Amino acid sequence: MVRGVTDRSPGYYDPALETMTPESRRQFLRARLKETLQHAAERAPHLTTRLQAAGLTIDQLAEPDDLFRLPPLRKRELPSLQKQVPPFGDLVAVPPSALQRIFISPGPIYDPEGAGPNYWRMARAMFAAGFRRGDIVLNTFAYHLTPAGSMCDEGLAALGCVVIPMGGGNTETQVQVLRDVQATGYVGTPSFLHTILQRAEEAGITPLRDLTLELAFVSGGMLPESLRTVMHQGYGVSVTQAYATADLGLIAYECPLRSGMHVAEDLILQIADPETGQPVPDGMAGEVVVTTFNRVYPLIRFGTGDLSVLDPAPCGCGRSTPRLTRILGRADDVTKIRGMFVHPSQLDAVMVEVPDVTRYQLVVRRAGFEDDLVLRIETAGSPGDVVARLESRVREAIKLRTRVEVVPQGTLPQDAKKILDERTWD
Ligand SMILES: [Zn+2]
Repeated sequence: MVRGVTDRSPGYYDPALETMTPESRRQFLRARLKETLQHAAERAPHLTTRLQAAGLTIDQLAEPDDLFRLPPLRKRELPSLQKQVPPFGDLVAVPPSALQRIFISPGPIYDPEGAGPNYWRMARAMFAAGFRRGDIVLNTFAYHLTPAGSMCDEGLAALGCVVIPMGGGNTETQVQVLRDVQATGYVGTPSFLHTILQRAEEAGITPLRDLTLELAFVSGGMLPESLRTVMHQGYGVSVTQAYATADLGLIAYECPLRSGMHVAEDLILQIADPETGQPVPDGMAGEVVVTTFNRVYPLIRFGTGDLSVLDPAPCGCGRSTPRLTRILGRADDVTKIRGMFVHPSQLDAVMVEVPDVTRYQLVVRRAGFEDDLVLRIETAGSPGDVVARLESRVREAIKLRTRVEVVPQGTLPQDAKKILDERTWD
């Protein structure tokens, strides 16, 4: 059969911006920073408050490195800021009525989406992953509450791809659609792609023969190299990943060489000490702190809570931004599980309703390519009742299936971490 897309030669989505010389990039970032600070100071009052607290004026933040003088605004501060001044904590530069969509992330955090195409700037990352006009793509990210579905939908639309808005779950249907429409692309988490292809095989489908899937664009979960290899060798699917968040949209993305994720060209990314916000030496792990040039949601020195390392070495692909090595984990106690942030406070809220639980600890492990969740509890009540009640309440609260295991009293240390992340990658 003739495929819709025959030419996936690498190239660039935006050659001028992606291959800029270091000097041009310095001038570009400097100019965009100045413009963004002026815009935000006029329209998003929270920035003025922050600058006053730090004893700074926007003129003192002329260079990207000057931003280190301003303490980061942490993602974990958003729920309370938004509660104080609903809905966006005075951080958004347009009235809510001028937005295109409003999303709700765990926290809860309201995430604004401004009007216009490709708002989240995902198109360049999807282009680098090989997506081209004519690709037919299953988008398995959720389309409701969180923005992941729309982010990728809009990026694909900007490239002229055909999108099938599947959302998550419904694995059988995903397999059927993949085959019926002869889809060439997948968008979603790495582990769900694996699940779908395994289910296809269980249904008697030989992916290399019966399917036309060539590309996968993944985010929202760790991508172990072992999984990438399995996808390529076993199923003929080329997997590329990107790093994006509901606040900032695209932050970094892999090029065809896949040796780290290039920092998106239209933002300033710094690696900072998670405690102090100050620079860490090149090659050291630190928190990803971002300043966007977004006119709707101009986040300045925004601490994502994600840990990574910046590699300034040139890349053979010709893109001239530095690269993030993989995301190493969370800088604070928020844990990302199957693409969702889980905070101990969400578990605390459930435990308040189940007073028989005296201690608890959520343990996250890897089982195959999946995150496996076990909530270990000590209880003074009848274990059977508590287990059933907790399993359903925890699932409601964190949107993830969790096994509850009763352990003898005294097993969990008094100062046990509420969420114990025992996952290892590769
Ligand atoms: Zn590259």
